[in-house]
Amino acid sequence: CGIVGAVSSRNIVGLLIQGLQRLEYRGYDSCGVAVHTGRGLARVRGIARVADLARQAQAENLHGCTGIAHTRWATHGAPAIDNAHPHFSMGPLAQTGDDAQGRVTLVHNGIIENHEELRARLQARGYRFASQTDTEVIVHLIDSLYEGDLFEAVQAACAHLRGSYSIAVLHRDEPHRLIGARAGSPLVLGLTAHGETWLASDALALAGVSDQIIYLEEGDIADVQPGKYWIADARGRRLDAASRPVQTVP
Ligand code: GLU
Repeated sequence: CGIVGAVSSRNIVGLLIQGLQRLEYRGYDSCGVAVHTGRGLARVRGIARVADLARQAQAENLHGCTGIAHTRWATHGAPAIDNAHPHFSMGPLAQTGDDAQGRVTLVHNGIIENHEELRARLQARGYRFASQTDTEVIVHLIDSLYEGDLFEAVQAACAHLRGSYSIAVLHRDEPHRLIGARAGSPLVLGLTAHGETWLASDALALAGVSDQIIYLEEGDIADVQPGKYWIADARGRRLDAASRPVQTVP
């Protein structure tokens, strides 16, 4: 339902959750936030209100400079903690337990229509599923295609997806990188003067952190790193700044 993400040099957990609060009016049944802590991926998820997620994140001392957050409106899989985003992939044949380490984490808006077929293929390759969502196929698919470059893995994964999505993705081995992609569901970039860059499903979520907005177009994939970003279009061509102009929102 709602996505917020950021790459920064400061702890952005509180700001990610504030972004979710700005999207709350749209309705949701669960919410969550994941960050790269500097040592690995960590997340907090809940089926209560965003305000409770904030308290939970504080209680667990969740800190990180790169992160993603989500409010979910369930389409596949009941509203439940295990189905709440961000989803993790621990890699094939991993132990899905509390102490298992995430390799890839992702949030998703929309619906993946070929999720059953993709799930069967990934299960055959040793991926274990921890949720009933359509979304979880995307995170394992990206893990299965990862060869050291998250942008390339996301681009390769998107070629297999049917349906509608906007996604934001982090990898354990690339702590200062955030990849966003959209097809059939909106996603924007928000720039700041101090090199912090945001991703969101709606510019409204970024009120207070960025008014310099780039609207991604159908099939775009954005590569966000500290102080820089670039965007590739649906055909994989890297775009110049003029093709996706920055707009100042009031
Ligand atoms: N289809 C996904 C799910 O049910 C995403 C729903 C949403 O857009 O919030 O988890």
